[in-house]
Amino acid sequence: MKKVVIIGGGLGGLAAAIPLAHAGFDVTLFEQNDHFGGKLMPVKLGDHHFDFGPNTITMPQVFKGVFEGVGERAEDYIRLIKLDTHTRNHFPDGTAIDFLSDPEAMRKQLQTHAPADAERYDAFIKEITRLYGLSETYFFPTVFQSWRDYVSPSLGRAMLQVRPLQTMHSFFGKYFRDPHMRQALDRYATYVGSSPYKAPATFAMIAYLELVQGVYYAEKGNITIAEGFAAVARKKGAVLRHSTAVKRITVNEGKTEGVELADGTTVEADIVILNGDLLSTFPALVDARHRPSFTDAKASSYEPSISAFVVTAGLNTRLDALRHHNVFFSGDYAQEFEDLFQHRRYSEEPTIYISNSSYTDPNVSPTGDNLFILANAPALTPEGKLQLEPEAYKERLYDLLETYGIDIRSHLVEEAIFTPAFIKDHFHAYRGALYGPSSHRKKDAFLRPGNAAKDIRDLYFTGGSTHPGGGSPMVVMSGQNLARRIIAETK
Ligand SMILES: Cc1cc2nc3c(=O)[nH]c(=O)nc-3n(C[C@H](O)[C@H](O)[C@H](O)COP(=O)(O)OP(=O)(O)OC[C@H]3O[C@@H](n4cnc5c(N)ncnc54)[C@H](O)[C@@H]3O)c2cc1C
Repeated sequence: MKKVVIIGGGLGGLAAAIPLAHAGFDVTLFEQNDHFGGKLMPVKLGDHHFDFGPNTITMPQVFKGVFEGVGERAEDYIRLIKLDTHTRNHFPDGTAIDFLSDPEAMRKQLQTHAPADAERYDAFIKEITRLYGLSETYFFPTVFQSWRDYVSPSLGRAMLQVRPLQTMHSFFGKYFRDPHMRQALDRYATYVGSSPYKAPATFAMIAYLELVQGVYYAEKGNITIAEGFAAVARKKGAVLRHSTAVKRITVNEGKTEGVELADGTTVEADIVILNGDLLSTFPALVDARHRPSFTDAKASSYEPSISAFVVTAGLNTRLDALRHHNVFFSGDYAQEFEDLFQHRRYSEEPTIYISNSSYTDPNVSPTGDNLFILANAPALTPEGKLQLEPEAYKERLYDLLETYGIDIRSHLVEEAIFTPAFIKDHFHAYRGALYGPSSHRKKDAFLRPGNAAKDIRDLYFTGGSTHPGGGSPMVVMSGQNLARRIIAETK
């Protein structure tokens, strides 16, 4: 059977490895770090466990489908819990709005908070359901491999129907007058690393995922998703090697022949799948003369999505004010996105997100809260410059949280800081971006880099920089779709 080498054990690489191994391919996966899951990474500080990366899990069917697609029971590996009141949104004037997974409960809440908006809630749900339906039919299942895939008439028709010319901000403004509700919805643009003032309204379908399908958490930590994927991949016969970096993809006469590892070992392969961030790792691993269609200049022309400034804080108590997901909004959201994307600087008054998974699952942090505190950060400059002093910015976040009554300092036991430079270096992420290219230009929102190398036969791409996009469910779909396509074409 054909030999496949996968470079990178992120969710995309693992999701591709499983069906390929199940179909009988001889699969070997190399991951440079010492864990599988890529940006979904376990962090342990004393007895506080944290998930780094995806804390908000949507589209549970996508994760379960990976197991079920190869005849396994998802429940034997992961237990996904639906969170009813999943996110508490706080605003500077003291208002709080809960985001709930039940549209009826959501409508009731709006009736007290913003009655006029409550009347439009059904129409809003109907429209975001339509947007999601189109994406599910036309965008999610596609593998972009050749120019023919991009010019399919049905895809073109679908593209015209998903409000590509309207921004998310103006779309939400059509349904909601309440500024708090609009700001809370605008935040969904950050799920694709973008600004609501620029990203197309198509991404309003993220609101459908959270407010209709619901937000999920994997018991014992979201990291169990990656661990479950790795276990099934091995069960199906894939060889997974961590702490093993690939130095080069070998190419001869326009075809890949395998990879060379950092220790100089060469590994032959019929097919190579690159799960490392396409924008940074393709140029790093393939000599420029083999990729005339993807020059270094082209790679660096992509606008990166946002990065993150993260503090993991273990406390000696449980803070009553916190739920599982918590957002403390800045007073001027437009300014914050202008800072991030136009000036490429840290906001003085950032919106702060806190995931406290111990609210749902105390066992992951038995002696107090495990706070994953995140502020949006600009991607690094092309030279890799970090434009801040991490300790000082952390103190700024703690100060801002105190204005909301969240006192971290008095209860702090353990703490670690992760900057965009860490994200770039540790995961080889393009300029520290969380989701590959931003989705501001229509081209980058809908036509992300394809899943096959244009100049090199049998070299494929999966992961957040490629189609269908960033965010953990998309990345899993990308790996699964690619594997299906390879299996179908090889038969
Ligand atoms: C702070 C943060 C918060 C996030 N929050 C969310 C969230 O709440 N919800 C959500 O859905 N998504 C979230 N995301 C995004 C999500 O984590 C990513 O979209 C997804 O995990 C990316 O998966 P991937 O497979 O594309 O790439 P990665 O996870 O980056 O995996 C690629 C792997 O390739 C490896 N690699 C690269 N080069 C080599 C090489 N030469 N040799 C060997 N291995 C190599 C890397 O080490 C890495 O492990 C977040 C990300 C971050 C960083």
